[in-house]
Order: sequence, then structure tokens, then C-alpha cells
Amino acid sequence: MNNIAENINIIKQRIQKACLSCGREADEVKLLLATKTVRPDQIRLALEAGEYLLGENKVQELRDKFASLQDIPHTNHFIGHLQTNKIKDVLRYDVSCIQSLDRLDLAEKLHRRLAETGKSIDVLIQVNTSNEESKFGIRPEYAADFVREVRQYDTLRIKGLMTIGLLSTENAAVRKCFKLLRQVQGEIVRLNLAGVEMGELSMGMSSDLETAIEEGATMVRVGTAIFGQRSTPDSYYWNESQ
Ligand SMILES: *Cc1c(COP(=O)(O)O)cnc(C)c1O
Repeated sequence: MNNIAENINIIKQRIQKACLSCGREADEVKLLLATKTVRPDQIRLALEAGEYLLGENKVQELRDKFASLQDIPHTNHFIGHLQTNKIKDVLRYDVSCIQSLDRLDLAEKLHRRLAETGKSIDVLIQVNTSNEESKFGIRPEYAADFVREVRQYDTLRIKGLMTIGLLSTENAAVRKCFKLLRQVQGEIVRLNLAGVEMGELSMGMSSDLETAIEEGATMVRVGTAIFGQRSTPDSYYWNESQ
């Protein structure tokens, strides 16, 4: 077995164990492979090992890898900061869900483009649960109002929430972020908004997926623990100015 397939096995075991520890079923948690900076031949190994769900942060990388992965079945989510001038492109590369919807002008422009082509797309609302200036996402206290506003754009199917937890070795501080996302989910569910689904909670990465699962994650996004350390710092992906 190659390294990547082995690492996937280890991650699956971690997911299983975390689910077991809190009375959840392992199939309640989807695994998304965060493939930023990962070459197509490496991604292919993961898909051949039985994975199907990929997440990219940059439209440029989606474009560069698109042709080389076209012959192998998979689903693309977009998990990075989406600039409005990249909307046309992101929709061109078969992205089925944008997990990083965080601004009304982005929602409006996405909708306009989708309406023109008669298409629709799944979206998750990205919430900034760590209160770090450097991170994108709607502030938790505005999330419910944001969802109400996004509802007017009927090409955007709201499926739930996404967050990047605090990057900290202090587990309690990380857990607080995930708890907060769950709370925001509950708040929105109670509003009972027609057409709004809140089932998906995308949270947890290589270092904190167990905590996220204990707090209700339905999808974890894992890069490093499967593909190894990246040479590009994450600030390049998370801190880009719009
Ligand atoms: C890179 C990235 C991940 C995966 O992080 P790892 O620590 O490498 O597992 C998850 N979510 C987002 C939004 C990312 O950019």
C-alpha cells in the first residue's frame, strides 16, 4: 500500500474512534481531502484508494488539476476565499459546493451568474468562530441575518455551516470554536426558514478532527495528515487580501 492510502486508513480509524467515543456512527462523518499544493498524481492515489470528495482553496489550482483528474470520479468543493472576479472560473470547474460563502456581494454575484446559466449550487456559510482578524467568515452574531439575506438568491442551496477552528494546541480553545458553530446552527434551525438546510457542519482538520467530531462535525477537511507537510504557509491561503 502506498503512503497516501495508508494515511487515509489512519484518518478513517481516527474518525471511527472519535465517533465511537461520543456515540455517533462513523458514516455520519464525511472525509474531504484538502488538496491545496498537492499534485494530481498524489490526489489520484487518494481517489484510487476509494476517496471521492476534494476541496481546493484556489481557482488557479482547480484549473491546473482539472484535466488530469477528469477521468477519475470525484466531487469538488471550494473551501478557500473566493474573490468575486473568480466566480465565472470556479463555476466552470464542476464545483458542487462552495463552503466559504461569507459576503453578501459574493452571494449576489454568484446568483446572478448561476441564474444566467440556469444552474444552482450548494453553499455552506463560513463563520469566523475564532474571532481572528486574519480569518474570513461571517461573525457568529450576524450569521442568522446573513442566512436570511442569502435566502433571496434561489440558485444558492444553503446546506449548513463551515468554520476553521483556532489554530492552537490548546484543546479547550479549539473546542470552543466548534461548540460555537454548533450553537449558531441551532439558532438558525430554530428560525425554521423555508428552503434553508442546516444539516452540514464542516469543521475539523488534521490536528483537531476528533474534537470537531465530538462537537457534531458532519464533514472533516484533512490535508497534512494525508498528503504530508505543505511548503506554502497557510497564511497564503487564509490571509489573502480581497
Ligand atoms: C488546508 C485546509 C484544511 C486542511 O488542513 P490540514 O491541517 O492540512 O489538515 C482544511 N480546511 C481549509 C479551509 C484549509 O484551507
